[in-house]
Amino acid sequence: MILLASRAHQSHATIIDLGSCSIGDGSLTVMAGPCSVESEEQIHTIAKSVKHSGAKLLRGGAFKPRTSPYDFQGLGIEALQYLRDAARANDLKTVTEVLTPSDVPTIAEYADILQVGARNMQNTPLLKALGECQKPILLKRGMSATYKELLLSAEYILASGNRQVILCERGIRTFENHTRNTLDITAIPVLKDLSHLPVIIDPSHGTGRRELVSPLCRAAVAAGADGLLIEVHHSPDEALSDARQTISTQSFHTLMTALKPIAHLNLHSDHPVTQETDQEHPLEAASRGHQ
Ligand code: PEP
Ligand code: MN
Repeated sequence: MILLASRAHQSHATIIDLGSCSIGDGSLTVMAGPCSVESEEQIHTIAKSVKHSGAKLLRGGAFKPRTSPYDFQGLGIEALQYLRDAARANDLKTVTEVLTPSDVPTIAEYADILQVGARNMQNTPLLKALGECQKPILLKRGMSATYKELLLSAEYILASGNRQVILCERGIRTFENHTRNTLDITAIPVLKDLSHLPVIIDPSHGTGRRELVSPLCRAAVAAGADGLLIEVHHSPDEALSDARQTISTQSFHTLMTALKPIAHLNLHSDHPVTQETDQEHPLEAASRGHQ
């Protein structure tokens, strides 16, 4: 069976058209903002700053999947309103996470892209519900998921009718504990070879350390990423979630300036790695062999 996510099904790149910007067309799309929307003032301050630095989308969690139930869980619907208003005021698009199928219609009213978090990559009822939604989906790789598992999760959304899926590498669990996760740069050329879907990188969750965000953004761009998802706050040490990996608005500005010449090099092609053998395509094997 040829999967909808595979290059065999569609040889040209899927381009997600958001009106004011596109993802997957060879340009670099940067999504930036706080881990969580904390207040109306906070998100407006950050939106204005990241727009000035060149971000195209504003990120911000409203419903947060925290490891501890005692940690800040997000402001919910109130946060969705603040996020949308801050984005509109600054001519930005928005991306925010959805945790449950029942929240999909509400979040789709407010956000331009709906994010599936790493913890929900294999939440199949959620993936099916997103397949019925008209908005693009940013699908994060689970922290222990293989490329095939990520692509089969994308397949759930595609097969349910929504062809607008963006894949996101956000770091995986390895034996290394110096960093929160190990950002798998290899995912970029591999996923772009196996699939026509855009691939973006989240170096914030990918490392868990703000000092590593800039070098890994540069590596991701050089390896052909279609976009970056970066946690930015005007006062990062005071962020209510993921403070350690959040960069300041000033650091974000410096980073964007450093990325410009690299992004302009346009090092990546639409389909960088060629299959050199006539072996069965890995995704076709995946569709039969997988539980
Ligand atoms: C987030 O983007 O804030 C988030 C919770 O990401 P992940 O699902 O990658 O942990
Ligand atoms: Mn976060």
